[in-house]
Amino acid sequence: MSKTALLPPEPQVAQLPWHKQLQQSLQQRRDAGLYRQTRQRQGEQSVEVVVDGQSFLSFTSNDYLGLASHPDVRAAFIKVASEEGVGSGAAHLLTGHSVHHQHLEEQLAVFCQQEAVLLFSTGYMANIGVIDALTGRNDVVIQDKLNHASLLDGGRLSEARQWRYAHNDMQQLHRRLHQTSDAGQRLIVSDGVFSMDGDLAPLPEIMALAQQHRTAVLIDDAHAIGVLGSQGRGSVEHWQLEPASYPIVVGTFGKAFGTAGAFVAADEVVIETLRQHARSYVYTTAQPAAIAAATSVSLRLLQAESWRREKLQALIEQFRRGAEQLGLPLMDSQTAIQPVLMDNEHQALAVGQSLEQQGILVGVIRPPTVPAGSARLRITFSALHQSEHVDRLLSALEQACAH
Ligand SMILES: *Cc1c(COP(=O)(O)O)cnc(C)c1O
Repeated sequence: MSKTALLPPEPQVAQLPWHKQLQQSLQQRRDAGLYRQTRQRQGEQSVEVVVDGQSFLSFTSNDYLGLASHPDVRAAFIKVASEEGVGSGAAHLLTGHSVHHQHLEEQLAVFCQQEAVLLFSTGYMANIGVIDALTGRNDVVIQDKLNHASLLDGGRLSEARQWRYAHNDMQQLHRRLHQTSDAGQRLIVSDGVFSMDGDLAPLPEIMALAQQHRTAVLIDDAHAIGVLGSQGRGSVEHWQLEPASYPIVVGTFGKAFGTAGAFVAADEVVIETLRQHARSYVYTTAQPAAIAAATSVSLRLLQAESWRREKLQALIEQFRRGAEQLGLPLMDSQTAIQPVLMDNEHQALAVGQSLEQQGILVGVIRPPTVPAGSARLRITFSALHQSEHVDRLLSALEQACAH
């Protein structure tokens, strides 16, 4: 191939008025301190990372148990990739569904104490697929206002009427249930652990209301599965629900499992409905079998090695004690997601930058990811962190927030 063939094309679109509007709105985003950029990580994803050529101690990963780099997880991935190839080649309903996918679904059903499980390629796809497939024209979806974007998008995709309730406001949820009593099916949808606040949904209260109003419940346990409960079974274990009153659960593998993908656990009728109708299941290529095999190993490890959850909890408690002594504005979170509220976007950026100068990475979260006026640092812990790492973070925060 000649060298000129690799040059980018002349930017013809730049002439269109539409393109000018896009440029203006990008500029507005920059001016508002909301512009976001990707950076390049080099080498291993762990608590110590190299980003854009600089080394950092990182508090940005959702690899809560440190399983992404576990030798057994890696080995399972490599073995199956070399035996079967990388891509799965087709959707699950054609020939993409391997024995590794099947085993993982069966193991997860046992782990979750539910009748059946269906795998999805990502959590985002699971959420849009489930809400759309389970609800239709005469139905109603009732969501917590702080639910993950993928749940809200699932609601938009569905033809059902959409209602919201204020974050964790059970009285308002109760009112919504009265207001929608004429609907066909109703589905209450909530994060189990809220991804930007780190707090828990009051699952026993939600399930009691749902039972009283004969309503289905979907819980997105992306940040709870593997982490909450003594065996890591997530929100249902944390709240000690009876299996007979379990909600439909979405779990993801990109966080505590340290791999990629997601699953839905529910009764057989729900799972079979999803297999037939969830468009983001039917019309997409199955995740690589090597990922399913690696995820099975993660599942075994996260059950067997409860020390990872205990260590994580100890780090969280160490951080909260230290941050309280520094007078930092923490939120009501006992989980690995620890937000520190900032006055505005600009302060969040400035504190984030100061931490970077001290060699520490945290999430700088601004609207629209969180509601206007609630910019924050989002600090996440992993069982791979050491107590000294938390000390370093605390003294860097003290320094950064002093200005
Ligand atoms: C991360 C996340 C998702 C999306 O999962 P992916 O597998 O990363 O697409 C869905 N819901 C919540 C609450 C999450 O935090």
